[in-house]
Amino acid sequence: MSVSSDKKLHPRTQAVHHGTRRSQYGEMAEAIFLTQGFVYDSAEQAEARFQGTGPDEFIYARYGNPTSRMFEDRIAALEGTEDAFATASGMAAVNGAMFAMCKPGDHVVAARALFGSCLYVLDLLARFGVEVSYVDGTDLDQWRTAIRPGTRAVFFESVSNPTLEVIDLKAVADLAHAAGATVVVDNVFATPVFSKAVEQGADVVVYSATKHIDGGGRALAGVICGTRHFVREVAEPYLKHTGGAISPFHAWIMLNGLQTMDLRVRAQADAAAAVAAALHGHPALTRVIYPGLPDHPQHDLAMRQMGSGGTMIAIEVAGGKEAAFAALDRLEIIKISNNLGDAKSIVTHPATTTHQRLSEADRAHLGITPGLLRISIGLEDSGDLTADLLNALQG
Ligand SMILES: *Cc1c(COP(=O)(O)O)cnc(C)c1O
Repeated sequence: MSVSSDKKLHPRTQAVHHGTRRSQYGEMAEAIFLTQGFVYDSAEQAEARFQGTGPDEFIYARYGNPTSRMFEDRIAALEGTEDAFATASGMAAVNGAMFAMCKPGDHVVAARALFGSCLYVLDLLARFGVEVSYVDGTDLDQWRTAIRPGTRAVFFESVSNPTLEVIDLKAVADLAHAAGATVVVDNVFATPVFSKAVEQGADVVVYSATKHIDGGGRALAGVICGTRHFVREVAEPYLKHTGGAISPFHAWIMLNGLQTMDLRVRAQADAAAAVAAALHGHPALTRVIYPGLPDHPQHDLAMRQMGSGGTMIAIEVAGGKEAAFAALDRLEIIKISNNLGDAKSIVTHPATTTHQRLSEADRAHLGITPGLLRISIGLEDSGDLTADLLNALQG
């Protein structure tokens, strides 16, 4: 018997069972259907399938695949949306969601503090005649001024990369909805575990599954969660014809990732809170930015919106780039890299890597100073991570 989808089960139960499709063999674990195509019993059946597919009917893996569909159904259930479309990467999801809905002459309002590739997608939209206005995401007055009747969409990261500003999702969504705009949220830093984005007014939620959903830094993938209409009538036609589909193998990795995501992310957030508290006030640091710390400018909002400070910390080392690099090079457990949400703790120097493309003035505007380090807390013991950081900062 399969688990009934209308019963409201808890996320941990859904993460293990929801969306499972079993073949005639009754396999326990989710199967990898590593096939691009599907065989039809007759020419008539092929003709019918191309006129429209039922829930267990597939045509071509660029359009859909049983393993990919299991991942889509499971993440949609966890996110609380009607449907989801899985993509080859987080950027395929951002690009797919935005390009599928916009046309020349449309107006989009976006927060300025975004992942570099998200900024690139917005530049591309502008190249094709979409007007893009940028605002400081934490300033509601700027959103209020920029959003106008007919604005097509607003786009922002609910917690920004790398300075961990928390944007008031409900307040921005209310302003956007009053103007008839669609609210698209890149929710990677909030994680699906702490997400209440749809409850708070998001219409479309995009994830880079490469991060906390995989949780082991193995594979690229992304997903667009939204209403059945948005996912199947707006996003899917664009994605299936432009080739953004997820690999069934990666969908299988993400399905397995979802089973342990709640346990992992909560443990990582607990460790992040412990590490942030231990670093707070350290004489070698000019700032410890963690939404779970009471002195974070949007601490109350973060607690209301996510109920957690999350798995990411940013610190600013006194003494600029030289001091930051010296600390990086003394770390032993925490690895220098640029992924996040991994079981392994990772530290990044945004100014010289992920945000290198920006001008110095833009970086300064976003608070990406030469001493800033972004830390993704993994599954190691928090005492070991704290000791590693304290040793590195001691010089
Ligand atoms: C990583 C990331 C992306 C892009 O995801 P990929 O899977 O690398 O394509 C988009 N937005 C945010 C906030 C990210 O952290």
